[in-house]
Amino acid sequence: MRYETTRAKSLLSKEICADSWFHVNRSLNAYRGCEHGCVYCDGMSEGYHVDDFLTHIRIKENAADVLRKELKRSGFTSRSELETETLWSFLDEEDAKRLAMNRPRRLVVGVCGGVSDGYQPAEKEHKITRQVLEALLDYEMPILVLTKSDLVLRDLDILKEIHEKAFANVMFTITLADDETQKIFEPKASSTSERFAALKEIRQAGLFGGVMATPIIPTIGDTLENMTALAKKAREVGAEFIQFGGMTLKPGRQKEYFLSVLTRRFPDRVEAISKMYSNENRYGIPIWKYLPCNIMLRGYEVCRDVGIRDRSVRHRLPQEHESNNTVLGILLDIVFYQEFLLGYHWSRIRPFKELAIRVERGMPEMNALRASGELSDYLLADERMLQLVEEILDRSTCEYLETLVTDVDQLEGTGTFTQF
Ligand code: SF4
Repeated sequence: MRYETTRAKSLLSKEICADSWFHVNRSLNAYRGCEHGCVYCDGMSEGYHVDDFLTHIRIKENAADVLRKELKRSGFTSRSELETETLWSFLDEEDAKRLAMNRPRRLVVGVCGGVSDGYQPAEKEHKITRQVLEALLDYEMPILVLTKSDLVLRDLDILKEIHEKAFANVMFTITLADDETQKIFEPKASSTSERFAALKEIRQAGLFGGVMATPIIPTIGDTLENMTALAKKAREVGAEFIQFGGMTLKPGRQKEYFLSVLTRRFPDRVEAISKMYSNENRYGIPIWKYLPCNIMLRGYEVCRDVGIRDRSVRHRLPQEHESNNTVLGILLDIVFYQEFLLGYHWSRIRPFKELAIRVERGMPEMNALRASGELSDYLLADERMLQLVEEILDRSTCEYLETLVTDVDQLEGTGTFTQF
């Protein structure tokens, strides 16, 4: 393993809007490369331009400083700056609150887990992710941590503080219920049992948290037995949800490495899996008809039978109105079902996604807007969408979402292939 200390020029990704999968607005990586060594890791693919992804770890030693500068440049004020401002401008408490309200709206920052794991072994010594969390706490930003390591528990103190000021959402990627099989595919990550135990602790500490069960490896992870065991365990430890997703395998390094390990450990699966990915799709999307099942659909059915939510939860940002969050959460649920379970064409998804983006960017409290007759001016939506929003304000759900769920129910057992 080769470790190299580097200096990052920038850290935060571009803004992500109305993300129905992770509910983040910006993301960051404190490391380049990842020692967890997952056999299916997308980070290996040529598109990321990181050579020796699993064996050469670049440690961004100035990550927290760069993050602070970027947040400041985006108009955010840290707690320490706000305290100084309050002190020297002789503001009373109410003025200080108003001042805080006028800051840019809080963004949910995804802390690692994009193309590296912030709690990979190097973090034990270098503590870059911890420094990043300290910066995010200072700016009171809501966060999402996605990891395969129970090392995240080391930072429970900071995570709890962030949760008090904004929120901390900790998701564990867990794809294989059996520790032995899991070690083959994710050799240096915490075991499945360790991850579930850590999630239990996270939930007992009062933080948000759930399971991202993706990528599910076809013929190995997509058995009813494995998926049901994961869902049951997730429910047992108090996860808010478990969300299943399929595996992409891009032509080149990622696919070659995956198939080489498969040849050694599961030689009887090589032919079938090679056939599934024989289309050489640049995004690694398989040929649907060769997959043993539609993983998203099976995930939905498993969650329904086990009694756990099948998709992540959109949590309310600090200073966001409860009603606005409810509307946004339902709109994102609609987009999720349309896109990932029913495979709707973009033209049908678009009006809901665009409305979700407008709501997410912030607007006055929707019930008040409705009472004053200004709701349609803010939503810039047609009559049908306006009625949908009003229904959500009244019922905290809507008939349209219920119809989508019925449509998904009707796909059960049909083997219909939609999207990943
Ligand atoms: S934890 Fe994520 S980034 Fe790290 S090797 Fe595994 S899949 Fe890749």
